[in-house]
Amino acid sequence: MSAGVAAPVSKDVKALLEKAADDATVVKPDYLLAEMTTMRAGGRADFFAEPKSEAGLSALLAACRERGLPVTVLGRGSNFLPLDSGVRGLTVRLSKAPFTDIKPGGSRLKCGAGAKMKNVAAEAKRCRLAGMEFLEGIPGSIGGGLRMNAGAMGGELFDVVETVRFMDPAGKVFEMPADSIEVAYRGCPLLNNQIALGAVLKGEPDTAEAITARMAEFSKQRWSSQPKARSAGCIFKNSEGIPAGKLVDELGLKGASEGGAMVSEEHGNFIVNRGGATAGDILRLIGRIRERALTERGIELKTEVQIIGGEDRDA
Ligand SMILES: Cc1cc2nc3c(=O)[nH]c(=O)nc-3n(C[C@H](O)[C@H](O)[C@H](O)COP(=O)(O)OP(=O)(O)OC[C@H]3O[C@@H](n4cnc5c(N)ncnc54)[C@H](O)[C@@H]3O)c2cc1C
Repeated sequence: MSAGVAAPVSKDVKALLEKAADDATVVKPDYLLAEMTTMRAGGRADFFAEPKSEAGLSALLAACRERGLPVTVLGRGSNFLPLDSGVRGLTVRLSKAPFTDIKPGGSRLKCGAGAKMKNVAAEAKRCRLAGMEFLEGIPGSIGGGLRMNAGAMGGELFDVVETVRFMDPAGKVFEMPADSIEVAYRGCPLLNNQIALGAVLKGEPDTAEAITARMAEFSKQRWSSQPKARSAGCIFKNSEGIPAGKLVDELGLKGASEGGAMVSEEHGNFIVNRGGATAGDILRLIGRIRERALTERGIELKTEVQIIGGEDRDA
């Protein structure tokens, strides 16, 4: 795990953010983000906060606007690689209630952005709603899942989304029906600039036995190919013609390493932290793979993992 680079911490900015934050929200300066990622790598946020209400989030955004501070949203950190040089401005995580609420109603689940996708799958099963089984093994939140249009086993999140609730950078809240939101393979462009506050997901009534059986089958399939070591999930988006993992395998790069980062022997599209990996190690390994894919196969691999802190979020 990287100790990260200490960021300059301004006391008056901290005071401004603390004043803006709702009562129980602590603003933490110089906060090690590696701890909040599944890869356990990367640097520090200048400031970190977990607001406890939409009003609290909106007030923090207003304070950031006043000072021209950038805002980054962190979900469960399962596809999130903060640069070793750190992430400027304020990083917010919607991991406190009410953002983690999952409220059932008929064939719908109203989910906060901070709800874990695996908890949504479990609640759907409890309510005997089919269609969300594929969320059981994706280790992220609904907010991160919407941003990434997370998917597995032939399904993707926006297949089951009815409406999304957003906050824009000015703190204004609005809702949109899913069918009017542009989505792509592992992406929802609108969420490059807006914050997802939550979503209404819709399922289809089914029996508990059928839902349980599908979830068990998905889990079996996942764990037969996915490494258990610390990772950020798939590093690259699949390119046309060949899955990225197969390409990495064909290039003979399974087991290749840079410092503490290594291409998984089990799955070529996973880079694992075998201990002490820095974001720099991971980025060097990504660079090596991309270069080989381009020179040997003419394929320009795009990263799925979100590289946070630099200009290039989709290297
Ligand atoms: C072992 C493992 C297995 C995985 N398997 C899968 C899989 O099968 N399918 C799949 O699609 N992914 C998979 N992933 C990747 C990851 O779980 C998903 O991309 C997930 O959607 C990320 O959610 P998160 O909450 O962790 O978001 P983070 O990783 O914290 O953030 C990802 C991106 O979303 C943005 N973001 C987070 N919250 C919000 C919000 N509220 N509003 C706006 N933007 C936000 C962040 O700024 C960042 O750009 C896997 C990862 C791991 C480690």
